[in-house]
Amino acid sequence: MRNYLLLTPGPLSTSQTVREAMLQDWCTWDKDYNEDIVTVIRQELLAIAGLDEKTYTSVLLQGSGTYCVEATLGATVKPEDQLLILANGAYGDRMGEIASYYKLNYRLISLHETEQITGETARRALSEYPGTTHLAMVHGETTTGLVNSIEEVAGVLAGRNITFIVDAMSTFGGIPIDMEKLGIDFLVSSANKCIQGVPGFGFIIANRAKLMECKGVARSLSLDIYDQWEAMEKGKGKWRYTSPTHVVRAFYQAIQELKEEGGVAERYERYKENHRVLVEGMRSLGYCTLLPDELQGPIITSFLYPAESFDFVEFYERLKKKGFVIYPGKISDAQTFRIGNIGDVYPEDMARLIEAIR
Ligand SMILES: *Cc1c(COP(=O)(O)O)cnc(C)c1O
Repeated sequence: MRNYLLLTPGPLSTSQTVREAMLQDWCTWDKDYNEDIVTVIRQELLAIAGLDEKTYTSVLLQGSGTYCVEATLGATVKPEDQLLILANGAYGDRMGEIASYYKLNYRLISLHETEQITGETARRALSEYPGTTHLAMVHGETTTGLVNSIEEVAGVLAGRNITFIVDAMSTFGGIPIDMEKLGIDFLVSSANKCIQGVPGFGFIIANRAKLMECKGVARSLSLDIYDQWEAMEKGKGKWRYTSPTHVVRAFYQAIQELKEEGGVAERYERYKENHRVLVEGMRSLGYCTLLPDELQGPIITSFLYPAESFDFVEFYERLKKKGFVIYPGKISDAQTFRIGNIGDVYPEDMARLIEAIR
């Protein structure tokens, strides 16, 4: 069934059982879809995040991850608010693009792609922009594989009454995140990353009280997360507009498989092991990672071209013939390629990849 192993961080390799879950059609009016699948998913997302339904809630939204980031920024930042975006890669910069499209009052601090966002980054930016009401950042910057310190930034935000928005697209479900302890008000992720579903929708986990403040703020009807949330609450799992039924059913299956694996902590261990086998193997072949080990997360790894004459296209094509699909690099000032560690991928697969590269 599998044409090749996707070592790309979304869409990623899914299990056969997740793909098979899409072989049924569903009626979007029936309880067996709305209550037994959609509502259960909304509850399970909170359970994965270790959150209480009284204080937190979740909204599912059609589209890819970017739609959900855009929906969140567009529905949370009011005209009189001031948004601070801390970025160190394409996805952080994209939040700046969204803010620009929406003509939000925003400041974008864009660090070099190999520089981590830390508490110091936040402290300095906030002293420069003391009127900040909302702070947005990416947790795992998929551009490089760098994991930013949301813990340190949360420490700086504590007690400041600033709405904290985290793009945890590539980390939620794969790296433990204590949203409540960190005071994250809106966490955005999508079906086709660490939960290991197929692409087609994303989700927002929100602090209930903060989401209630979003009523009437959105500048886009289809991306109005408050309205979508209200429809899902009142309709017991009803989506406002056509729901990606097969994708949702596959996601439900993916959540069961996350639980069977032992939850986020276990999945995190597997991804770390995938990463370890990959990096050790690549180093034994003479490749170097872009990032120092302290900044590198287990989601995706960037490698430098081994030589000026390295032909990435040929490397890619030859690996693809052997059953592995990897990713080109995405950074401005170094020649890199990337290999993802997430999905239905195991340390044995990484060992096979290393043999193929050898
Ligand atoms: C995948 C990803 C997104 C969303 O990208 P889409 O192509 O819209 O799904 C956003 N942020 C990060 C960090 C990502 O890894």
